[in-house]
Amino acid sequence: MLIDSGLKKDYERLVETESVLPIKVSDFYLKKVNDEIEHIGTGGPLYRSVLPTKERITLKADHETRDYVEEDKHLPINGVDYIMQKYDDRVLEMITDTCFAHCQYCFRTYNLARFQNSNSKETIKNKVSVLKEYLSKNKKISEVILSGGDPLSIGYDNLSCALRGLKDYNTRIHTRAIVYQPEVFSEETIDLLKENDTRLVFHINHPYEICDVVEEKIRLLGKSGIRLYSQFPLLRGINDNHVVLNQLLSRMDDLRIRPLSIFIPDPISYGASFRVNFKRVVQIMNDLNWSTPSWVNSTRFVMDTTIGKVRHENIKEWDGDCIIFARDGKEVKYYDINEALDAPSDIETLLWRDNL
Ligand code: SF4
Repeated sequence: MLIDSGLKKDYERLVETESVLPIKVSDFYLKKVNDEIEHIGTGGPLYRSVLPTKERITLKADHETRDYVEEDKHLPINGVDYIMQKYDDRVLEMITDTCFAHCQYCFRTYNLARFQNSNSKETIKNKVSVLKEYLSKNKKISEVILSGGDPLSIGYDNLSCALRGLKDYNTRIHTRAIVYQPEVFSEETIDLLKENDTRLVFHINHPYEICDVVEEKIRLLGKSGIRLYSQFPLLRGINDNHVVLNQLLSRMDDLRIRPLSIFIPDPISYGASFRVNFKRVVQIMNDLNWSTPSWVNSTRFVMDTTIGKVRHENIKEWDGDCIIFARDGKEVKYYDINEALDAPSDIETLLWRDNL
């Protein structure tokens, strides 16, 4: 059985009452999850990525919020909730609220579920034209980030409308389509991305997400000259060990994917089971740093906050579970997950296939 029926019911109740995203897994990814279950049972790294565990719905940490980065406070246009701006030179558009699968750890769970349930759906064409008008009045902006949801889920015609409409800007797409639905990168779509010089930022969290099919698509994308990057979260039960990170980053390096950042998960509601205590984050960072070549360990560990992205170097004060980060003259308090709630994952489970 994929999921215990009692747990499924409890989870569905949260979907109804707490704006948690419903379970959604693509057939492509489900095959890998089933293979994992066959070998190690439920609760392995790919399982936890898309299916709830008991811990996921019961573990709570102090000071959790629904939207830690307060996306609602960064909406520059009155009445438009899908365009966000935190920095002068770039803007983010949530081009869609649809994903190929729902990640259990998604930090945007609340806003995404809210968008999915909202009745006021804008067409992609409208969204692009509202953004273009905003860009025409804000000349400092040179970069557009298309996010979501998954921008690759909007279909070729919509993607073409968005990319061609934004061709005068540095445009990057954040996507997990490569691991959930690699077939979406058709020849036609690859040509479109190439033609518009779009940067692709993959969110790949675990080395077992890169199977032969995924590898072949990445190689095709790379061969076509599209710039490929990666960023992903550090997630308990999925990749919270420097050996896993080394394997993942090395594999992506072989495939010519340039790593940007590893995100420390936000303290969001129902996110505690994925969080890693900050002392352990530092330990993982150091272990990675001292055991790998620079093309692996140069990846930045960052945290997204209301004052922008911060790193270890931005820590101003650290008192127990309260850490104060400072940046650009501003400060933000972060409440860490208590050590007692954080149990390091077992490497034999994280990398079960290596031990077969
Ligand atoms: S693909 Fe991205 S936006 Fe969609 S559920 Fe996963 S993390 Fe969230």
